[in-house]
Amino acid sequence: MKRKYKILLIVVAVLIVVGFSAKRVLLDSSHVADVPGIAVTVDDFRKVAGSGENLPVKINIIRVAEGEFPGGMVVAGDRSKTYTAPLAAFQVVYEREFPGGGNTVIVDAGLDRDGVDKMGGHSVFNEAGYTMVQRAMRKAAAILITHEHFDHAGAIARSPFFNEISRRVLLTPEQAAGPEIKNAGFTPEMIAKCGRLTYTGLHSPFPGMVLLKTPGHLQGHQVIYVKLRNGNEFLIAGDIAWHMDNITRLISRPLLVSLFLGEDRDAVAGQLRWLHDVWYKAHPEVRIIVSHDRAQQDGYVKSGVMGGSFSL
Ligand SMILES: [Zn+2]
Repeated sequence: MKRKYKILLIVVAVLIVVGFSAKRVLLDSSHVADVPGIAVTVDDFRKVAGSGENLPVKINIIRVAEGEFPGGMVVAGDRSKTYTAPLAAFQVVYEREFPGGGNTVIVDAGLDRDGVDKMGGHSVFNEAGYTMVQRAMRKAAAILITHEHFDHAGAIARSPFFNEISRRVLLTPEQAAGPEIKNAGFTPEMIAKCGRLTYTGLHSPFPGMVLLKTPGHLQGHQVIYVKLRNGNEFLIAGDIAWHMDNITRLISRPLLVSLFLGEDRDAVAGQLRWLHDVWYKAHPEVRIIVSHDRAQQDGYVKSGVMGGSFSL
Protein backbone atom coordinates (compact mmCIF):
# COMPACT_ATOMS: atom_id res chain seq x y z
CA MET A 1 0.00 0.00 0.00
CA LYS A 2 1.23 3.43 -0.87
CA ARG A 3 2.32 5.53 2.06
CA LYS A 4 -0.25 8.26 1.50
CA TYR A 5 -3.13 5.72 1.56
CA LYS A 6 -1.77 4.31 4.81
CA ILE A 7 -1.85 7.78 6.33
CA LEU A 8 -5.37 8.35 5.02
CA LEU A 9 -6.52 5.06 6.56
CA ILE A 10 -5.01 5.97 9.92
CA VAL A 11 -6.64 9.41 9.83
CA VAL A 12 -10.06 7.91 9.04
CA ALA A 13 -9.65 5.32 11.81
CA VAL A 14 -8.71 8.02 14.32
CA LEU A 15 -11.71 10.14 13.30
CA ILE A 16 -14.06 7.19 13.77
CA VAL A 17 -12.66 6.44 17.23
CA VAL A 18 -12.83 10.12 18.26
CA GLY A 19 -16.38 10.36 16.91
CA PHE A 20 -17.56 7.29 18.83
CA SER A 21 -15.88 8.43 22.05
CA ALA A 22 -17.39 11.92 21.73
CA LYS A 23 -20.84 10.42 21.19
CA ARG A 24 -20.38 8.15 24.21
CA VAL A 25 -19.21 10.97 26.45
CA LEU A 26 -21.58 13.69 25.27
CA LEU A 27 -24.79 11.81 24.50
CA ASP A 28 -24.74 8.50 26.32
CA SER A 29 -23.09 9.17 29.67
CA SER A 30 -25.36 9.49 32.68
CA HIS A 31 -24.27 11.02 35.98
CA VAL A 32 -26.03 10.00 39.18
CA ALA A 33 -24.31 10.15 42.59
CA ASP A 34 -23.82 7.06 44.77
CA VAL A 35 -25.30 8.80 47.80
CA PRO A 36 -27.99 11.50 48.11
CA GLY A 37 -26.62 15.00 47.78
CA ILE A 38 -29.22 16.31 50.26
CA ALA A 39 -29.51 15.19 53.89
CA VAL A 40 -33.10 16.40 54.43
CA THR A 41 -35.66 13.58 54.84
CA VAL A 42 -39.35 13.29 53.99
CA ASP A 43 -40.17 13.41 57.72
CA ASP A 44 -38.30 16.72 58.00
CA PHE A 45 -40.63 18.16 55.34
CA ARG A 46 -43.67 16.70 57.10
CA LYS A 47 -42.76 18.28 60.44
CA VAL A 48 -42.48 21.74 58.89
CA ALA A 49 -45.65 21.34 56.78
CA GLY A 50 -47.95 21.30 59.82
CA SER A 51 -51.34 19.61 60.02
CA GLY A 52 -55.02 20.19 60.54
CA GLU A 53 -57.68 22.43 59.13
CA ASN A 54 -55.37 24.99 57.55
CA LEU A 55 -53.81 22.57 55.05
CA PRO A 56 -54.70 23.06 51.38
CA VAL A 57 -57.62 21.05 50.03
CA LYS A 58 -56.59 20.53 46.42
CA ILE A 59 -53.81 20.71 43.85
CA ASN A 60 -54.58 21.42 40.20
CA ILE A 61 -52.56 21.35 36.99
CA ILE A 62 -52.99 23.07 33.63
CA ARG A 63 -50.92 22.47 30.53
CA VAL A 64 -50.09 25.79 28.92
CA ALA A 65 -48.14 24.23 26.06
CA GLU A 66 -46.50 21.06 24.95
CA GLY A 67 -43.21 20.33 23.23
CA GLU A 68 -41.48 17.24 21.94
CA PHE A 69 -38.01 16.00 22.82
CA PRO A 70 -36.03 13.13 21.35
CA GLY A 71 -35.60 10.50 24.07
CA GLY A 72 -31.81 10.79 23.96
CA MET A 73 -32.04 14.39 25.15
CA VAL A 74 -34.04 13.42 28.23
CA VAL A 75 -32.60 10.04 29.22
CA ALA A 76 -28.90 9.70 28.36
CA GLY A 77 -28.21 6.96 25.84
CA ASP A 78 -31.86 5.96 25.33
CA ARG A 79 -33.01 7.09 21.91
CA SER A 80 -35.82 4.53 21.77
CA LYS A 81 -38.69 6.98 22.22
CA THR A 82 -39.77 10.58 21.82
CA TYR A 83 -40.98 12.39 24.93
CA THR A 84 -44.01 14.65 24.93
CA ALA A 85 -43.12 17.43 27.34
CA PRO A 86 -45.90 19.50 28.88
CA LEU A 87 -45.19 23.03 30.06
CA ALA A 88 -47.45 23.27 33.05
CA ALA A 89 -48.74 25.47 35.84
CA PHE A 90 -49.90 24.26 39.26
CA GLN A 91 -52.47 25.70 41.65
CA VAL A 92 -52.62 24.85 45.36
CA VAL A 93 -56.09 25.62 46.70
CA TYR A 94 -57.04 26.50 50.29
CA GLU A 95 -60.49 26.61 51.78
CA ARG A 96 -60.12 30.04 53.34
CA GLU A 97 -58.75 33.28 51.97
CA PHE A 98 -55.41 34.56 53.21
CA PRO A 99 -55.42 37.93 55.03
CA GLY A 100 -54.00 39.66 51.94
CA GLY A 101 -56.70 38.13 49.70
CA GLY A 102 -56.82 35.04 47.55
CA ASN A 103 -57.08 31.39 48.57
CA THR A 104 -54.65 29.89 46.07
CA VAL A 105 -50.90 29.66 45.46
CA ILE A 106 -49.65 29.25 41.89
CA VAL A 107 -46.45 27.30 41.27
CA ASP A 108 -44.91 27.93 37.82
CA ALA A 109 -46.95 29.47 35.02
CA GLY A 110 -45.57 28.12 31.76
CA LEU A 111 -44.98 30.56 28.92
CA ASP A 112 -46.90 32.62 26.38
CA ARG A 113 -47.60 32.04 22.69
CA ASP A 114 -44.54 34.00 21.63
CA GLY A 115 -42.30 31.81 23.78
CA VAL A 116 -43.86 28.66 22.31
CA ASP A 117 -43.36 29.96 18.76
CA LYS A 118 -39.68 30.55 19.53
CA MET A 119 -39.31 26.96 20.72
CA GLY A 120 -40.24 25.77 17.24
CA GLY A 121 -40.36 22.05 16.46
CA HIS A 122 -43.64 20.38 17.29
CA SER A 123 -44.53 22.80 20.10
CA VAL A 124 -48.24 23.41 20.61
CA PHE A 125 -49.72 26.33 22.54
CA ASN A 126 -52.87 25.87 24.66
CA GLU A 127 -54.65 29.22 24.47
CA ALA A 128 -57.47 28.23 26.85
CA GLY A 129 -54.98 26.91 29.41
CA TYR A 130 -52.85 30.04 29.20
CA THR A 131 -55.91 32.28 29.68
CA MET A 132 -57.00 30.28 32.72
CA VAL A 133 -53.55 30.54 34.30
CA GLN A 134 -53.53 34.30 33.71
CA ARG A 135 -56.95 34.64 35.38
CA ALA A 136 -55.82 32.44 38.26
CA MET A 137 -52.68 34.53 38.84
CA ARG A 138 -54.80 37.67 39.26
CA LYS A 139 -56.75 35.94 42.03
CA ALA A 140 -53.84 34.15 43.71
CA ALA A 141 -52.45 34.95 47.14
CA ALA A 142 -48.95 34.21 45.83
CA ILE A 143 -47.11 33.05 42.72
CA LEU A 144 -43.96 30.93 43.13
CA ILE A 145 -41.59 29.39 40.62
CA THR A 146 -39.48 26.25 40.89
CA HIS A 147 -36.86 28.09 38.85
CA GLU A 148 -36.57 31.01 36.50
CA HIS A 149 -36.29 29.24 33.13
CA PHE A 150 -38.54 30.84 30.47
CA ASP A 151 -40.83 27.80 30.23
CA HIS A 152 -41.70 28.12 33.93
CA ALA A 153 -41.61 31.91 34.47
CA GLY A 154 -42.22 33.36 31.00
CA ALA A 155 -46.01 33.59 31.42
CA ILE A 156 -45.44 35.68 34.57
CA ALA A 157 -42.93 38.15 33.11
CA ARG A 158 -44.89 38.52 29.88
CA SER A 159 -48.31 38.56 31.55
CA PRO A 160 -50.60 41.39 30.39
CA PHE A 161 -51.37 41.79 34.12
CA PHE A 162 -47.78 41.91 35.33
CA ASN A 163 -48.10 45.22 37.20
CA GLU A 164 -51.19 43.95 38.98
CA ILE A 165 -49.68 40.62 40.07
CA SER A 166 -46.02 41.60 40.55
CA ARG A 167 -46.02 42.09 44.33
CA ARG A 168 -47.48 38.60 44.77
CA VAL A 169 -44.75 37.05 42.60
CA LEU A 170 -42.28 35.80 45.21
CA LEU A 171 -38.73 35.29 43.94
CA THR A 172 -35.84 33.97 45.98
CA PRO A 173 -32.75 36.21 45.85
CA GLU A 174 -31.05 33.49 43.78
CA GLN A 175 -33.88 33.54 41.24
CA ALA A 176 -33.96 37.35 41.16
CA ALA A 177 -30.23 37.41 40.40
CA GLY A 178 -30.29 34.30 38.21
CA PRO A 179 -28.62 34.13 34.81
CA GLU A 180 -31.81 33.03 33.05
CA ILE A 181 -34.38 35.45 34.47
CA LYS A 182 -33.69 37.95 31.68
CA ASN A 183 -34.44 35.27 29.08
CA ALA A 184 -37.77 34.64 30.80
CA GLY A 185 -38.67 38.27 30.06
CA PHE A 186 -37.91 40.01 33.36
CA THR A 187 -36.16 43.41 33.23
CA PRO A 188 -34.33 44.71 36.33
CA GLU A 189 -37.27 47.08 36.94
CA MET A 190 -39.73 44.18 36.84
CA ILE A 191 -37.58 42.10 39.20
CA ALA A 192 -37.55 45.05 41.62
CA LYS A 193 -41.37 45.09 41.62
CA CYS A 194 -41.63 41.43 42.66
CA GLY A 195 -41.82 40.25 46.23
CA ARG A 196 -38.92 38.38 47.83
CA LEU A 197 -38.83 34.95 49.36
CA THR A 198 -35.80 34.92 51.64
CA TYR A 199 -35.15 31.71 53.53
CA THR A 200 -32.63 29.04 54.42
CA GLY A 201 -33.25 25.36 55.12
CA LEU A 202 -36.85 24.18 55.09
CA HIS A 203 -39.37 26.99 54.84
CA SER A 204 -43.17 26.94 54.93
CA PRO A 205 -44.57 30.26 53.65
CA PHE A 206 -48.09 28.75 53.50
CA PRO A 207 -49.63 25.88 55.51
CA GLY A 208 -48.84 22.50 54.02
CA MET A 209 -46.30 23.91 51.56
CA VAL A 210 -42.57 23.50 52.29
CA LEU A 211 -39.75 24.85 50.16
CA LEU A 212 -36.14 23.71 49.91
CA LYS A 213 -33.50 25.32 47.74
CA THR A 214 -31.97 22.80 45.34
CA PRO A 215 -29.40 24.72 43.26
CA GLY A 216 -28.05 22.73 40.34
CA HIS A 217 -30.29 22.78 37.26
CA LEU A 218 -30.20 26.51 37.95
CA GLN A 219 -28.81 28.40 40.93
CA GLY A 220 -32.36 29.51 41.81
CA HIS A 221 -33.96 26.07 41.67
CA GLN A 222 -36.20 24.97 44.57
CA VAL A 223 -38.51 22.03 45.25
CA ILE A 224 -41.95 22.44 46.81
CA TYR A 225 -43.56 19.81 49.04
CA VAL A 226 -47.35 20.00 49.34
CA LYS A 227 -49.48 18.21 51.94
CA LEU A 228 -53.24 18.30 51.49
CA ARG A 229 -55.83 18.06 54.23
CA ASN A 230 -56.88 14.62 52.93
CA GLY A 231 -53.34 13.37 53.62
CA ASN A 232 -52.18 13.26 49.98
CA GLU A 233 -48.60 14.44 49.62
CA PHE A 234 -46.72 15.75 46.58
CA LEU A 235 -43.22 16.91 45.79
CA ILE A 236 -43.10 19.43 42.95
CA ALA A 237 -39.56 18.58 41.88
CA GLY A 238 -39.12 21.15 39.11
CA ASP A 239 -36.51 20.21 36.54
CA ILE A 240 -34.09 18.09 38.62
CA ALA A 241 -35.47 15.40 36.33
CA TRP A 242 -37.35 16.10 33.12
CA HIS A 243 -39.15 12.78 33.17
CA MET A 244 -39.94 10.24 35.89
CA ASP A 245 -37.74 7.78 33.92
CA ASN A 246 -34.73 9.82 35.08
CA ILE A 247 -35.67 8.98 38.69
CA THR A 248 -36.99 5.42 38.40
CA ARG A 249 -34.20 4.27 36.05
CA LEU A 250 -31.54 6.47 37.67
CA ILE A 251 -30.33 7.89 34.38
CA SER A 252 -29.62 11.61 34.07
CA ARG A 253 -29.82 13.99 31.14
CA PRO A 254 -26.87 13.54 28.77
CA LEU A 255 -23.72 15.58 29.36
CA LEU A 256 -24.27 17.57 26.16
CA VAL A 257 -27.62 18.85 27.46
CA SER A 258 -26.17 19.70 30.89
CA LEU A 259 -23.35 21.63 29.20
CA PHE A 260 -25.85 23.46 26.99
CA LEU A 261 -27.94 24.37 30.06
CA GLY A 262 -24.85 25.33 32.05
CA GLU A 263 -26.12 23.29 34.98
CA ASP A 264 -24.10 22.05 37.96
CA ARG A 265 -24.08 18.42 36.93
CA ASP A 266 -22.62 17.14 40.22
CA ALA A 267 -25.35 18.88 42.23
CA VAL A 268 -28.09 17.46 40.00
CA ALA A 269 -26.46 14.00 40.25
CA GLY A 270 -26.79 14.13 44.06
CA GLN A 271 -30.38 15.39 43.81
CA LEU A 272 -31.38 12.59 41.41
CA ARG A 273 -30.05 10.05 43.90
CA TRP A 274 -31.98 11.89 46.68
CA LEU A 275 -35.24 11.77 44.70
CA HIS A 276 -34.72 8.08 43.93
CA ASP A 277 -33.61 6.83 47.36
CA VAL A 278 -35.28 9.18 49.84
CA TRP A 279 -38.58 9.82 48.02
CA TYR A 280 -39.40 7.32 45.27
CA LYS A 281 -38.06 4.19 46.99
CA ALA A 282 -38.53 4.99 50.68
CA HIS A 283 -41.80 6.96 50.41
CA PRO A 284 -43.78 5.87 47.35
CA GLU A 285 -46.89 7.32 49.02
CA VAL A 286 -45.57 10.81 48.24
CA ARG A 287 -46.28 11.62 44.60
CA ILE A 288 -43.33 13.22 42.87
CA ILE A 289 -44.37 15.73 40.20
CA VAL A 290 -41.81 16.11 37.43
CA SER A 291 -42.30 19.27 35.36
CA HIS A 292 -42.21 17.77 31.89
CA ASP A 293 -43.69 14.26 32.23
CA ARG A 294 -47.04 14.15 30.50
CA ALA A 295 -47.86 10.51 31.22
CA GLN A 296 -47.24 11.05 34.92
CA GLN A 297 -49.36 14.20 35.11
CA ASP A 298 -52.20 12.65 33.09
CA GLY A 299 -52.12 9.68 35.44
CA TYR A 300 -52.51 11.88 38.52
CA VAL A 301 -55.44 13.73 36.94
CA LYS A 302 -57.09 10.51 35.74
CA SER A 303 -56.87 8.90 39.17
CA GLY A 304 -58.35 12.02 40.73
CA VAL A 305 -55.46 12.99 43.02
CA MET A 306 -54.88 16.17 40.99
CA GLY A 307 -57.44 18.44 39.37
CA GLY A 308 -57.15 18.96 35.61
CA SER A 309 -58.50 22.50 35.69
CA PHE A 310 -57.97 25.58 37.89
CA SER A 311 -60.38 26.86 40.54
CA LEU A 312 -61.38 30.41 39.67
ZN1 LIG B 1 -35.62 24.26 33.51
